[in-house]
Amino acid sequence: MADPKAKVVILGAGHAGGSVAGFLRQVGHEGPIVLIGEEPIPPYQRPPLSKAWLKGEADADSLALRGADWYDDNGCELKLNVRAVSLDRAAKTVALSTGETVSYDILIIATGARARRLTIPGADLDGILELRTAADAEQLKRALGPGKTLAIIGGGYIGLEAAASARALGASAVILEREQRILARVACQALSDFFTAYHQARGVSFRLGVEITAFEGEAGKVTGVRLADGGLIACDAALVGVGAIPNDDLARAAGLECANGIVVDLQARTADPSIYAIGDVTHRPLPLYGVTHRLESVPNALEQAKVAAGEIFGKPPLTPEVPWFWSDQYDLKLQIAGLPFDADTILVRGDPAAAKFAVFHLKGDLVQAVEAVNSPPEFMMGRSLIGSRKPVSREKLADSSISMKEVAA
Ligand code: FAD
Ligand code: NAP
Repeated sequence: MADPKAKVVILGAGHAGGSVAGFLRQVGHEGPIVLIGEEPIPPYQRPPLSKAWLKGEADADSLALRGADWYDDNGCELKLNVRAVSLDRAAKTVALSTGETVSYDILIIATGARARRLTIPGADLDGILELRTAADAEQLKRALGPGKTLAIIGGGYIGLEAAASARALGASAVILEREQRILARVACQALSDFFTAYHQARGVSFRLGVEITAFEGEAGKVTGVRLADGGLIACDAALVGVGAIPNDDLARAAGLECANGIVVDLQARTADPSIYAIGDVTHRPLPLYGVTHRLESVPNALEQAKVAAGEIFGKPPLTPEVPWFWSDQYDLKLQIAGLPFDADTILVRGDPAAAKFAVFHLKGDLVQAVEAVNSPPEFMMGRSLIGSRKPVSREKLADSSISMKEVAA
């Protein structure tokens, strides 16, 4: 039975944690809210850290999820610079790094993910950087500028967005990727090829299928990246963007089920009726595809924050959303809807040479996923087709002279 006066404690003051505090007040929750975060600043958006903010096109204030007054004005106690270190589910308390213990009626775990690190010789040299927090981004920005060379380990979103921003700031960028193609985890071959060529044309160089064996340095500072074939890539700084690991240790130690993230149901509930989990730290069902998965995206953090707030307040469940993602690089807007599970056909609509096209992943005549470059209608209608499970004509879909509205009609 929902209790609108329950004390809600949120662990992790990131995108999901900050958002759920807001949604709780929006639905009418009256009880105390305590938001506990390890970082020194109130909840902020991470996406600009590799894009507009890094390029100097957005200031620090514009990153904040909401004004600093909101927390006091809405009875949300913000405890920053504090780490939650353990959880006592029987006593319903959380122990903090300050030695303090906080009790809860409802706990929401929103501890996100951390950057994966490379455990190779030289990994602790100055100038080896990661990009997860605003503090990381400050360091990266200081390392960029005309005449500098940034070596980027990992050709995922972090690597590609940072490379585009580095070029905008006049630095050289070289991407070192273990796979034979970039974006292998999140996008299809056609998209990898397109993004590789687009970056190359703007001065980014690539080394694909390489293994990094060590960072080399002088006087404690990185000067190069050593490859397994013996080659050395000289650099002034190295950004490691090799994926993210869920911060589920606390939940795991408290006996909650974890499998690459805290296992939750569609309502963001764990098996403990007093504990919810949301955002990058969760392993959740994706009913559209009949699978469970860990999503790493702002839309997912927002969806689960909304769902958890409604569930805690006793509102009827929301319809699950189609997962979606975006990335901005140079003048390209990549928008992805859905995930290509079980797809049997890949169909390209539009013209990659004109940097305006969409890749549809089909299972029979159903759209499973769409990857759209500078093509908002394909993204939006594609997303709606994924959600509705309405069959489409492949012939019409492949013909970009037929509008997406007509394709979907
Ligand atoms: P986070 O925002 O990571 O928040 C978790 C918070 O919990 C952190 O502040 C952490 O310090 C804190 N924490 C962890 N453990 C503890 C503890 N024990 N005690 C207290 N606090 C703790 N997604 C997109 O959809 N589009 C984009 O364009 C995009 N760009 C991105 C660019 C960058 C550079 C990065 C790093 C991420 C980007 N993402 C993007 C991903 C997106 O930011 C994440 O999916 C989103 O932030 C997830 O929200 P979250 O609250 O689950 O985790
Ligand atoms: P990512 O998208 O998982 O990409 C990491 C890349 O690094 C993968 O291609 C991976 O290849 C490669 N890699 C792993 N180990 C390597 C090694 N030892 N040497 C060379 N390459 C290696 O992760 P990310 O780019 O680091 O991003 C981290 C987090 O930030 C994710 O949650 C991401 O979603 C989020 N983020 C999102 C956006 C966005 O949505 N626009 C932007 C920035 C960041 P394998 O496939 O072989 O592992």
